[in-house]
Amino acid sequence: MSFVTRFAPSPTGPLHLGHAYSAVLAHDMAQAAKGQFLLRIEDIDQSRARPEWEAQIYDDLHWLGLTWPMPVMRQSDRLLLYHAALDQLTDMGLTYPCRCNRSDIEIAAGAPQDGVPQFGPDGRIYPGTCRTRAMSDAGPKDVIRLNITKAVTALPALSFCETGPHHQGTHALNADALVETVGDIILVRRQMGSSYHLSVVIDDADQHITHVVRGEDLFDATQIHVLLQHLLGLPTPKYHHHRLIRDNHGKRLAKRDDARAIATYRADGKTPDDIRKMVGL
Ligand code: GLU
Repeated sequence: MSFVTRFAPSPTGPLHLGHAYSAVLAHDMAQAAKGQFLLRIEDIDQSRARPEWEAQIYDDLHWLGLTWPMPVMRQSDRLLLYHAALDQLTDMGLTYPCRCNRSDIEIAAGAPQDGVPQFGPDGRIYPGTCRTRAMSDAGPKDVIRLNITKAVTALPALSFCETGPHHQGTHALNADALVETVGDIILVRRQMGSSYHLSVVIDDADQHITHVVRGEDLFDATQIHVLLQHLLGLPTPKYHHHRLIRDNHGKRLAKRDDARAIATYRADGKTPDDIRKMVGL
């Protein structure tokens, strides 16, 4: 199939207007291209994922008129695959365990310096304190990081194609920028067995996703995904990062924004067409 996309919510709260926009847009794009729309439940964070939120996601999406093939992929069923990918990166000498907590990282990062970015798409740029630790030394309280300096050594020319409204075109990866503005990202978070970045590239490949449709807050993370796809020998899909739905003050909607939850609009008697209009579809 030449167009396969997905909606990949985390069942950690109610779907709001922003999710509805993302899901319906992806669904409409797949339909227009006579392609396929898939659903994936991103529930690796088992401390926050709840079955009732997952049930509500299915219910809201069906109500919006969306359909998808069964069974739905769930990340919590796939930890062994993520571990195998991590082993692959470890065998390449690209991983290390890290025991730093947030305040260790802040202290080691030191005072902000002019022109040196402090934050990247994976949060605060890691100062490298644990970089020389061996994987054989990894303990249950450690996270596992990617040594990005090693990972970009001898990097071939990599790029991705973006079709979204704000960054349309071909984006080449830049090894120096990855080191300076992204840093040593987390591949396995504490008590999660994986991380968003590691899981998303494996899942997109396994679902044969050709077009990733998602919010533009994830545009900067895409270079991480393209790098991981290259390291793991996975294909790079096309990307479409769409505008974000904001509240009346221009702020991005958050999961806890119950006022804009689809369930709230449903209870108020709104129709799926009303929701489409509200998000500008
Ligand atoms: N689970 C992510 C979220 O809810 C989606 C990430 C993606 O589409 O790549 O924001």
